[in-house]
Amino acid sequence: MKVKEAIFQWYQENGRHDLPWRQTSDAYKIYLSEIMLQQTQVKTVLERFYFPFLERFPTLQSVAEAPLDDVLKMWEGLGYYTRAKNLHHTAITCKGILPRSPEELGGLKGIGKSTAHAICAFAYHEPLPILDANVKRVLCRYFAISVKNEKVLWERAWELLHVKHPYAHNQAMMDIGAILCTPKNPHCNACPLSFTCKGKSAPENYPKPIKKAKVLTKKRFALVCEHEGKLGLIQRQEKLLHGLWGFMQVDEVPEGIFLGKVMHTYSHFKLELEVFKPFLHVKIKNYFTCKEIEKLALSTVDKKILKLLNLKK
Ligand code: SF4
Repeated sequence: MKVKEAIFQWYQENGRHDLPWRQTSDAYKIYLSEIMLQQTQVKTVLERFYFPFLERFPTLQSVAEAPLDDVLKMWEGLGYYTRAKNLHHTAITCKGILPRSPEELGGLKGIGKSTAHAICAFAYHEPLPILDANVKRVLCRYFAISVKNEKVLWERAWELLHVKHPYAHNQAMMDIGAILCTPKNPHCNACPLSFTCKGKSAPENYPKPIKKAKVLTKKRFALVCEHEGKLGLIQRQEKLLHGLWGFMQVDEVPEGIFLGKVMHTYSHFKLELEVFKPFLHVKIKNYFTCKEIEKLALSTVDKKILKLLNLKK
């Protein structure tokens, strides 16, 4: 049996057919799942985010009509908030209706080539391969590629694609990467690619592991400013948490009362945040009651500060 047929067969018998984004041909729902799954595990997306988001925003049109703050609020806790901002931007740009061609889709903010192909393959069964992190790992091992190279990987993805069954093929490749061809201890015995896999004798060499840089710890200071029983918050401008509300942070130790410390780990660094109530007046435009804060989209680190303040009361 040819490898393409073996992958197809394996998917019929072992694929994760019950995932909700596999039971729809609605391009918006498929697009949403692809974006949510980019940096987040299936379990988390499934248990906490996919359904509540769709309940609040059942169509891309409803995303386009909502203020960004509402979209961010529904994204709260999922992290990588640029994804939510791009989704909102894209919804407005295409007036609530996604284009059908992969080229046009790929031109929209936050939709890369692989996501564009995934939307077209899953919603319209177009014969296009995808290349997410799991698929890249499978291809590197199957073709014994030691150094990841986008151009080479796309060529290999096209080579392996089952053009008659692009939907099942791509879903299978994602499942094989997630379930069988795992980063550590892959289950080659159960893998449909096993009989022609060039890398199965030493899968850990494909691709060659890159030494991870040491995670840096940044130390900063958060300012808790109160005015008439309200807390002063700013809307973040920096790339990582853009659009979310939170306590002002500074690099220098402020003069004030030390309230405690919170830690938070981001993908590339750890943040150690000492929380102060400053003695001097700090210029902050927006003050909110606790009830109002509940309605704002806050980052996890700012929620930790709120928890710290509640513990202090
Ligand atoms: S045979 Fe092993 S190394 Fe090769 S693709 Fe399958 S799980 Fe990965």
